[in-house]
Amino acid sequence: MRDVQRLWQVDTLPYTRQAVRSKQDQKALEVLVERTIRVDVDGVLRYATPLLRLEDGTQFNIDQRSIHPTLKRTEKHLQSKPEVAEIHNKQINQLVEAGFVKKIPEEEAKESKESWYIPHHVVEHNGKHRLVFNCSYEYEGKSLNRHLLPDPKSFDQLGDLIKATKQSQDGAASVSQTSHLTADDVEKTEGILYRQIQKDCFPEEFKLAKAGKSLPSNSRLLQFDVVYEDRCDLLRLGGRLRKANPLEQQTKHPIILDPNHYITRLVIKSYDHQLHHPGPERVLAEIRRRFWIIRGREAIRRHQRECVECRKWRAKPVVPKMSDLPVSRLQLFKPAFYSTGVDCFGPMTVSIGRRSEKRWGSYF
Ligand SMILES: [Zn+2]
Repeated sequence: MRDVQRLWQVDTLPYTRQAVRSKQDQKALEVLVERTIRVDVDGVLRYATPLLRLEDGTQFNIDQRSIHPTLKRTEKHLQSKPEVAEIHNKQINQLVEAGFVKKIPEEEAKESKESWYIPHHVVEHNGKHRLVFNCSYEYEGKSLNRHLLPDPKSFDQLGDLIKATKQSQDGAASVSQTSHLTADDVEKTEGILYRQIQKDCFPEEFKLAKAGKSLPSNSRLLQFDVVYEDRCDLLRLGGRLRKANPLEQQTKHPIILDPNHYITRLVIKSYDHQLHHPGPERVLAEIRRRFWIIRGREAIRRHQRECVECRKWRAKPVVPKMSDLPVSRLQLFKPAFYSTGVDCFGPMTVSIGRRSEKRWGSYF
């Protein structure tokens, strides 16, 4: 019985899983939150993140002369294989063009307190070529990989994101005290995230509505009769339910969200999960008590098509196509038992007196 219960649990029940952040993950997040900046790369605003260094005071310095032999070897190898050299150069140029790699003037290199060498080479896999950088390269017992924090896990649960946002709001000092959030904390932090969605997806509208001005005539929010709410600094749906007194204020005027923002996707995911993966209409109805996701039904369907649990629940059993009957079963016009088959079953436990024994059965 216990095994059957276990089978149900592991096989079909949507079990809850709580992501636990390791100390290293938390540290890495702090560094990212504190020191990520926006930079202009050829007119495109990009995020520049710091290296996730362990704060152990290690300085990276490499003697240029010491890497000459390695560079010579690489050069020789590339000379002997011009087609690899071409790929190598092309990939390096792509990195330069994208702004990930930059040639620095010699003075800057001399003045710099730190320098390091990352060996790289071209590898081929399934006909595709890739430039690989070896960050485990060791010099005088140091290597980048050993002195960098691993990438923090990206958030795939809304709850984790809320917690991490709260932590970054409070600053690193109180990280350990905020493992339990009060309802008030959650509401405030959620507000920050939803505002982020609105500012990312409808920046113009947000500014205008906040200033009490009307939206431009080509705005995609025009049809929603947007109202700006002072108290929580969010855009809400105006709608026609103002006189529906029994309804809660947040249901009458749900928060407007863009369906493609990743935080909106986490909202949908968390509702789907909490409701144990019901049909899209049910998820939509529940979400609409608080949010108005633009083209929400479509967004929920899109999520559920990807959601593993939803797919498990909705999967249809497949009846395998039966193969042709074997010749032995097709002995037409022959006497009975001309050909027979045998099968057996068991064991079953039978009681004999006060002991029990195993018994097998076979049939022809
Ligand atoms: Zn689902």
